[in-house]
Amino acid sequence: MRSEASNILILGGTAEARSLAATLVADGLDVESSLAGRVSSPRLPAGRVRIGGFGGASGLARYLQEQRITHLIDATHPFAAHMSAHAVEAIQQVDGVSLLRLVRPGWGEHPDAPSWHWVPYLAAAPVVVDGRGHRPVRTTGRQSRPFFADLRAEQVLIRVVDPMDAPKPSWTVVLDRGPYEVCDETELMKRHGVDVLVTKDSGGIYTSAKLAAAASLDIPVVVVSRPEPGATQGGLCVTTAADIPEVLAWLSRSARMLQPPTMRG
Ligand code: NAP
Repeated sequence: MRSEASNILILGGTAEARSLAATLVADGLDVESSLAGRVSSPRLPAGRVRIGGFGGASGLARYLQEQRITHLIDATHPFAAHMSAHAVEAIQQVDGVSLLRLVRPGWGEHPDAPSWHWVPYLAAAPVVVDGRGHRPVRTTGRQSRPFFADLRAEQVLIRVVDPMDAPKPSWTVVLDRGPYEVCDETELMKRHGVDVLVTKDSGGIYTSAKLAAAASLDIPVVVVSRPEPGATQGGLCVTTAADIPEVLAWLSRSARMLQPPTMRG
């Protein structure tokens, strides 16, 4: 049983965050979702929505206090490391806010994972990619310009939601937004003669069709590992949930500890 007094802020921008907002709103809870405002027409979650950065961890801490947030659920993408770090810092500046990280499991347990080429961070990917193909595909290119610039390969296929600034003439930029089916991913890779796939370990099912497509075409896969939680959690032990039922259980458990947030110090 969750308390009437709970005031929940979801740090969103993911399909899981939207599903969570829909579930909680249907449950009659007061929920606000926060989006970074990176894409021009984001898919909006149910409930109240705010858009734009908070101004770092201290800005988020102020927001938590002003809005009397009791539960902060960080449901950002596994690679949104700055926002996750700010969430951890912010709750250390404000009393009375419980933090949960909702993060989908990675693809490390995928049956094909042992055959993939894992790199620890994106900057380590170009040399591995260049060693395996000449026509790579990368499916989230928005913040990856340095990666593309470091590639020797010229014929690069990039799929993004919004247009990229000044792509090289030899790059093919496809504007699209998931979820994608395996047959569409296979067709895309075949049409563009793709011979190596580069992806982050985003995990989950929403963007995994490309992995099956690459396997069916026998295309090598380069996977960028997730940022280490230790690097984003500042030594604090953050409770995590892998799915919405786990979030609901956490909300029920923590409801009895609610008290209005106050700034420390
Ligand atoms: P990031 O590098 O971790 O965050 C950079 C800054 O963007 C943050 O410091 C914060 O600005 C602002 N920000 C990020 N997420 C926000 C949110 N949900 N609400 C308000 N401000 C937010 O984040 P990112 O990797 O650029 O991702 C941005 C958004 O896209 C996130 O919502 C994430 O869930 C979503 N997304 C990211 C990826 C990815 O691969 N990184 C993939 C799919 C979706 P201030 O410091 O000013 O508060």
